[in-house]
Amino acid sequence: MARFREDVVPHLIAGERVTGSETFDTLDPTTNGRQCTVAAGGAAEIDRAARAAADAFRAWRDVPGARRRTILHAIADAIEARADEIALVESADCGQPIRYMAKAAVRGAENFRFYADRAPDAQNGLSLPDVDHINYTMRQPIGPVGVITPWNTPFMLSTWKIAPALAAGCTVVHKPAEWSPLSAVILAEIMDDTIRRHGGPAGVVNLVHGLGETAGRALTEHPAIKAVAFVGETTTGSHIMAQGAATLKRVHFELGGKNPVIVFDDADLDRALDAVLFMIYSLNGERCTSSSRALVQRSIYADFSRRAAERARRIRIGHPLDPATELGPLIHPRHAEKVLSYPALARQEGATIACGGGRAMEGAGNYVEPTLYVEAAAAMRIAQEEIFGPVLTMIPFADEAEAIRIANDVRYGLAGYIWTRDVGRAHRVARDLEAGMVWVNSENVRHLPTPFGGVKNSGIGRDGGDYSFDFYMETKNVAVAFDSHKVPRLGA
Ligand code: NAD
Repeated sequence: MARFREDVVPHLIAGERVTGSETFDTLDPTTNGRQCTVAAGGAAEIDRAARAAADAFRAWRDVPGARRRTILHAIADAIEARADEIALVESADCGQPIRYMAKAAVRGAENFRFYADRAPDAQNGLSLPDVDHINYTMRQPIGPVGVITPWNTPFMLSTWKIAPALAAGCTVVHKPAEWSPLSAVILAEIMDDTIRRHGGPAGVVNLVHGLGETAGRALTEHPAIKAVAFVGETTTGSHIMAQGAATLKRVHFELGGKNPVIVFDDADLDRALDAVLFMIYSLNGERCTSSSRALVQRSIYADFSRRAAERARRIRIGHPLDPATELGPLIHPRHAEKVLSYPALARQEGATIACGGGRAMEGAGNYVEPTLYVEAAAAMRIAQEEIFGPVLTMIPFADEAEAIRIANDVRYGLAGYIWTRDVGRAHRVARDLEAGMVWVNSENVRHLPTPFGGVKNSGIGRDGGDYSFDFYMETKNVAVAFDSHKVPRLGA
């Protein structure tokens, strides 16, 4: 391994900051100038990190749950102490408006506190008595795990994955997205410092930067890594499943979405409009649970779409660090190009562009106007593909049956939103939506004990509450005889 370079964003392996010889650059989303140079890990760095995680596993596994609770709360304290720095770094790295990123650390700390309090009971199982045996189950951490995260809200998502892994007793190798590596360094430093200050070993958490095809692939193929928690695109999930097949990796996938928000004509339309706009134009539209398809009942369609366009036009586009900014630049020029390729397609397909469709703040960075496609049909690509930007596709529907049919007519199934005052209809539609999560008369409001995840091409497995422990732990059954049953006697 080459010498450590101060000017390079480092990996953290076995408690040591290392840079290696390969690097890559990241871009400032507001200018597309170079932002920083980052160590590019490959198979060698992943191997070192996986071995460190394997070496630390027994010691971390055997830390009593109550002690792990103390340590995880201490990590949350340290995150809160660096909240302003985390917000700033996240905003600058991703182009996300500071008004949203100001809460990144708070939410990350909450994830640690939530799982800290569950650490002492994570191993508890069930008592399952039979006639001649008492059976009981216990859960034990699966081993060192790989966590691979995307570039949208990376700090929050990383804590969401890593906190339950640590609470369960697993050790971790984290590979963050190559477009947004910075907040992962702060998180790794905080976790490693805190664990070691509390007497834990180095190597409980390890961080390796690098490209998906090299570092990411090596992590999913490494024999010491027992499970891979992945958040990212659906096609990447397929690759990871194939890459992990040889070593029989357990996988947990949180993938893409093309989430419907269904607005019936009896809904509170003012609240519905606020929620529809918030769930697509906040966080730059780079959000897996965004309501990127609005299905609006024909009887209110003209008025609702006109009001949506008026409001979308007024969304404040600006520098991400300006507190007034509601929409910042997309993360990368390649992503902006992808998002900007859809207006021409929308026209070709016969939809109307009610607002936006072009670049904003011409000449600077990856700013894209809030865009609204109206009079779209379910089969159009703008209604089928995850665009992952500030782009809303609005589709009319006649009745409940048609709304459900259109809502389910995509390969994804992450979230769904329903707006109606009819209680029976709300429950019927919630039941019939092909989605892992449904909100009724609400935008996405997260409650940590509830299951989070998708169906169809949107994912495998659930996070949240106790669900995360099912992934990071193995369940063992122990059967103990009452010495009352007849043991078969061979050769007697
Ligand atoms: P991506 O799939 O391109 O990359 C995600 C991560 O996977 C990155 O760290 C990348 O380096 C790594 N990677 C890429 N190829 C790999 C390979 N062959 N092996 C191992 N790792 C590899 O996703 P992205 O563009 O960074 O993120 C956006 C996507 O994430 C969207 O589709 C979004 O919907 C999804 N997402 C889903 C959720 C959810 O909860 N369902 C949450 C956030 C984001």
